[in-house]
Amino acid sequence: MTHAPPKILISACLLGQPVRYDGKGKPFSHPAIDRWRQEGRLVTICPEMAGGMPVPRPPAEIENGASGLDVLEGRARVLEVTGGDVTAEFIAGAEKALALAQTHGCTYALLIDGSPSCGSVAIYDGSFSGVKHAGNGVTAALLQREGIAVYAPSRIKDLVLEIGQ
Ligand code: SF4
Repeated sequence: MTHAPPKILISACLLGQPVRYDGKGKPFSHPAIDRWRQEGRLVTICPEMAGGMPVPRPPAEIENGASGLDVLEGRARVLEVTGGDVTAEFIAGAEKALALAQTHGCTYALLIDGSPSCGSVAIYDGSFSGVKHAGNGVTAALLQREGIAVYAPSRIKDLVLEIGQ
């Protein structure tokens, strides 16, 4: 019996969709992405839009140098630079991303780094001063907690090796 090749959940902005807070995309090109797309193996989502946030929207960061798991477990909030509390939207978006991944059987995710939703290597520290620290965003944390392997674009070679096709 042969297994279907794994599907990959991917940040919409990585495919160039204009869903970021500033109304832009952040396209990332790699031959593996082109191939996975042609094979119908990419499942696309913007967790922040799925959580009900508009485009454009104020930039947001997880407060006090905390991380996505802290948000999921109620120890930290996600705040906009304008002071708005968007914690509920970020958690709702993460849950939608997880549901979509599970519906499509995605065991891997390729998410843009630095985002308070999608980051998996480093995120901003909540001071809105451009300072990053090691940590992950709310969606990345939820996916990882549920056993989905999350990769940043800087680690796409590792993802290709891991998937093996
Ligand atoms: Fe891109 Fe993720 Fe931010 Fe949406 S939530 S704009 S997919 S980084």
